[in-house]
Amino acid sequence: NIPKIDLPFQSAIDNAYTKFKDLKEGKNADYIKELANVDPDIYEIAIVTVDGRIFTKGNLEARVSIQSISKVFTLAKVIEESGAQAVLDKIGVDATGLRFNSIVAIELQKGKEINPLVNPGAIAAVSMINGVDSAAKWKNILQTHSEFAASPLYINRPVYISEAGDNLRNQAIAHLLLAYGRMYFDPVQSTDIYTKQCAINVNAKELAVMAATLANGGVNPVSKKKVVSAETCQFVLPVMATAGLYDDSGQWLYATGLPGKSGVGGGLIAVCPGKFGIAVISPPLDEAGNSVKAQKTIVDIVRELKVNPYLIQ
Ligand code: GLU
Repeated sequence: NIPKIDLPFQSAIDNAYTKFKDLKEGKNADYIKELANVDPDIYEIAIVTVDGRIFTKGNLEARVSIQSISKVFTLAKVIEESGAQAVLDKIGVDATGLRFNSIVAIELQKGKEINPLVNPGAIAAVSMINGVDSAAKWKNILQTHSEFAASPLYINRPVYISEAGDNLRNQAIAHLLLAYGRMYFDPVQSTDIYTKQCAINVNAKELAVMAATLANGGVNPVSKKKVVSAETCQFVLPVMATAGLYDDSGQWLYATGLPGKSGVGGGLIAVCPGKFGIAVISPPLDEAGNSVKAQKTIVDIVRELKVNPYLIQ
C-alpha cells in the first residue's frame, strides 16, 4: 500500500539527457588501468520508484564496474549483521576530510574515526562481513549486491585483475589498520574481497534498483524482497549524505539535499527517501573523482522534480 508518487519522471530524465549528452568535460579514471579503456560516451540514466516503476534513458546494455558505490551495500549488510553500534565502535562514521585512499586519515586518528564510504573504512567493513572464510564472505557480499539489484550480478574480470595487480596502496591501508587493531579479518584477503566488490559490473537500472531499495526502507521494490531492515537504511543514508561524494560531499548535499554515492567507474546514485532511487553512469570524472555528467544530470532532475527534501513549499 505504497502511495503512488506522480511526478513527471520520464520527461525529467529525457530533458536532462538532451541537455548533457554532448558534454565532454572530465576524464576517465586511469589509476586502475582498465578503467581508462572504458567508453567515455556511455551515458545512462534510470529512476526506480518505491512502488516499482522503472524509467530509463540511454543504452542499458553497457555496464561499468560499481567501484566505490559498493561500499554503501557492504556497509548496509554489516549494520544488518552486527548493528549500528558496532560500525560506530569498530570503524567510525565521521567524514575524514581527506582523499578517499588517504593513509594520513588513518595515521592522524590511529585507525579510529575512519569512514565506511572511503577506502580504509570500507576495507574494515569488508573484514567485518559474516562468513567463515574469504570465499564465504565474498559470496555474502555478491549475494547482498544482487539482492539489492533484484538481479544476479557478476564481476568484471578485466577490471578485477587490473586492480588486484596494482592495489598496493589499499593493501598498505589494510595492514596499517591491522597495526592499530582496526582490521577484523586477514588484511590481504579483506583487500582482495574489497577489490572484487569494486569490480562488480552494473548498469544504471541495476544501480537505481539498489538505490530504490534504500529509498524503500530496505524492501526491494522490484523483487518485493526485504534485503535489509528499515533501521539499517536509516543509518546508511546519513553516511551517504555526509561522505558519499569524496571531498565534494558538502557541495553535493548543498546542490541536491539527497544522500548519494559515486564510484570511479563513473556511476552515481542518489536516494530520495520514501520516493525513488536514481542512478546515472558516465565515466569521465572531475578532480574530486565524481562523474561530471552524472552529477549535472541528477542535480538537474532533482530541481525539475522539486524533490530536495529541504525544499518546503
Ligand atoms: N576500487 C577503487 C579503489 O579502491 C574504488 C575507488 C572509488 O571508486 O572511489 O581505489
